[in-house]
Amino acid sequence: MFLKPFLSLCLFFIASILCAQRPDPDVIASKSGDITIQPILHGTLVLKYDNKIIYVDPYGEARAFENIAGPDLILITDIHGDHLNEKTLDDISAEGIPIIAPKAVAEQISEKYKKQVSVLQNDEKTKMFGIQITAIPMYNLPEEPEAKHVKGRGNGYLLKMGDKRIYISGDTEDIPEMRALENIDVAFVCMNLPYTMDINQASNAVIDFKPAVVYPYHYRGNPDMSDTAAFKRLVNDKDDEIEVRLRNWYPDYK
Ligand code: ZN
Repeated sequence: MFLKPFLSLCLFFIASILCAQRPDPDVIASKSGDITIQPILHGTLVLKYDNKIIYVDPYGEARAFENIAGPDLILITDIHGDHLNEKTLDDISAEGIPIIAPKAVAEQISEKYKKQVSVLQNDEKTKMFGIQITAIPMYNLPEEPEAKHVKGRGNGYLLKMGDKRIYISGDTEDIPEMRALENIDVAFVCMNLPYTMDINQASNAVIDFKPAVVYPYHYRGNPDMSDTAAFKRLVNDKDDEIEVRLRNWYPDYK
């Protein structure tokens, strides 16, 4: 008689273990206040600094952003649906919020959002809310016209918040511009095939530019999730000073 409720209870517990929740935010201290880092989904993250909320590549269902404050600024890296997603922009009430994006995004985005986009091209800088924002190239190697990400179209971003330098790779391979970065406090580095790079390329580049902290993100690919634990081993076998932060960038938001 009691077997059925018992089984449902077991299923409930199994389901809650399997359906991992959104990770808790991380906080890093800068000389001018805390920076809060909230992984959301895939290549999507939310940063908070000096009471401003910055959404990077907002993508995912509305519930992925539940209980997260609305954006003051939106950064978009590229034209693909996991970076420029107007359904998500609608869901997060992005109308009227400043968007920084490369020209290709400004050209593709609908009229509804066009007027709020400020174009930043590779290597250009701007400043908003006291945050210096530099567009870093992101592209596939070798450089070919039919590449999934051609050089010049998309932007990675380097953000200077107080005395901290935060690098967001966007969809890229282990390009020289990434390897040449210096004094990076926090890096978000993509690693998924066939769109970006594998964990060997990613670890190699990370060892080269030596961020204090690196988050593997944007690691769901085709056919599989990249093995981020193996990425961490590859990095730390060569350099155990780099802190590799493994977070679940694919929570079940159902
Ligand atoms: Zn992508």
